[in-house]
Amino acid sequence: MPITLHSGGCLCGGVRYVVNGPLRDVVVCHCSRCRKTHGHVAAYTACAAKDLELVDEATLRWYEADGRARGFCTACGASLFWQAIERSTVSIAAGTLDEPTGLKTVAQIYTGEPGDYYTDLGEGTIHPEGLPDPL
Ligand SMILES: [Zn+2]
Ligand SMILES: [Zn+2]
Repeated sequence: MPITLHSGGCLCGGVRYVVNGPLRDVVVCHCSRCRKTHGHVAAYTACAAKDLELVDEATLRWYEADGRARGFCTACGASLFWQAIERSTVSIAAGTLDEPTGLKTVAQIYTGEPGDYYTDLGEGTIHPEGLPDPL
């Protein structure tokens, strides 16, 4: 029987998932794709795709563009997942995890192209050792 380490879901509960494996620590992404998807910067953890088990997915749909698929809830509009087509990992929006997550934010990426409505990225919060292991 697999050990469920983490669980989560969207705002309305239409999408529920469990993660049967380790999660990467959280990366905050400033790219325009994430901003368009989430309404602002996005915070993602990630797991091996095989470890993501969708428990409830009746309202889950995938939007594909630029070789990436983004999973969202058609009922409440929550953005939950993204996955590069050729990658064996899936990213999970950190805010959709049930707490306690046990995770911490370790890096910010695409800091060179933030939205023009904010400028203070918090000097010194960019992880000095670069990106964590992508799993
Ligand atoms: Zn929902
Ligand atoms: Zn991004």
